Amino acid sequence: MSILLRGGYVLTQNDEREILAGDVLIDDDRIAEVGKVTAEADREIDCSGSVVMPGLINNHNHVANTIMRGYADDVHLEQMLEKAFTVDDKITTRDVQVASLAGCVEMIRTGTTSFLDMFYWENEVARAVRQTGMRGFLGWVVLDREISTQKGDPLKNCAGFMRDLKGEELVSPLVAVHGVYTCSEETFLGARDLAEREDVPVHFHLSETRKEVYGHVEKYGLRPPEWLEKIGFLCERGIAAHCVWLTTNEIRTLAKRGVSAVHCPVSNMKLASGGFAPLPEMFENGMTVCLGTDSPLSNNSLDMFEEMKFCSLMHKASRWDATVVPAQKALDMATIEGARALGMEESLGSIEIGKKADIIVVDMKKAKSTPLFKSRIPSHLVYSCNGGDVSHTIVNGRIVMEGSRPTNVDEDEVVRSLQEHADEIFGEGND
Ligand SMILES: [Zn+2]
Repeated sequence: MSILLRGGYVLTQNDEREILAGDVLIDDDRIAEVGKVTAEADREIDCSGSVVMPGLINNHNHVANTIMRGYADDVHLEQMLEKAFTVDDKITTRDVQVASLAGCVEMIRTGTTSFLDMFYWENEVARAVRQTGMRGFLGWVVLDREISTQKGDPLKNCAGFMRDLKGEELVSPLVAVHGVYTCSEETFLGARDLAEREDVPVHFHLSETRKEVYGHVEKYGLRPPEWLEKIGFLCERGIAAHCVWLTTNEIRTLAKRGVSAVHCPVSNMKLASGGFAPLPEMFENGMTVCLGTDSPLSNNSLDMFEEMKFCSLMHKASRWDATVVPAQKALDMATIEGARALGMEESLGSIEIGKKADIIVVDMKKAKSTPLFKSRIPSHLVYSCNGGDVSHTIVNGRIVMEGSRPTNVDEDEVVRSLQEHADEIFGEGND
């Protein structure tokens, strides 16, 4: 099937960061033409007054936690996790599936086409990804066996998950290893070996809170990145979430090893992780830095437009420097840099001929995005718009959301189902 996105402003995110007034032709799963297109297509969508841009990439999520949204607010990370653990044994595989489906619906409605997830029972998350038609990079979480609530050995569970899912178009399995406070050297190296063997990324939490850093120093005499370097874990496959409490030397080490960072500004602020991830120093040292929402328990939104805006504002405010993280940089982090972190920059993250057709259309015919000039598009996208302005979401050349409704699933049914499952777990009711 071919789709012609006619007459919009195309925010290409190519190397020149060109914004063109023109069309995009999608042929099957690929971008076939960009610019003035004369060819006809099976389906034509009028994009006048809209921006056609690459789908957003959310590189840190625990999507099944939509079922816990609002359950543990206004507390620090440790208390949030404690509270979540009190209901952990009530969560069933079916809950994970229903909750993930709702999270995927929220993401495609707000313009996210790919996400990187860390959880157990990722096979249930995979089911939700397939149902909605979005793209998932799914990491079955590995942690020390003694503290895991998973049945069996988490590393073996992860290996089995990868075996089952290999070769799918929209679901890419990867290795997730939880973090230094839950994983031994053996667990980290086992995870790394598995990632090497399967040729996939390895995703992990890193230096999210001061407590994590100082706890590790007390235990091992080294800060988390120093210790990970010493045990030989750091490598190009590494995608580290948070990276809040890093020294410049640690940034140099991570950059040297080719580790990417996923910045989660909203989650860090909400959990009062303290301090601010040192983004300008990461950029200076050539690290790939992208964006993630983190869990719906700690954000609580999965809207990547919000993440871009908060990212930009947080660093301007903390550095007393309005030039830090301009709108274009925030857009880069949510698109092409997100693809680069996943090792997918050749096929995702920009609108260029031959790349996968993961594209969104953002309606700019609104008071909030007027006046509209080509030069102001990055500004409007980051500072004025939000996910509610996305009119179409296309993944792998298929329309998965149109007119603000998902096309592959019944949103009302998804919402009803999540409420029913949450009623079972929390038993609160609304009477
Ligand atoms: Zn996380």
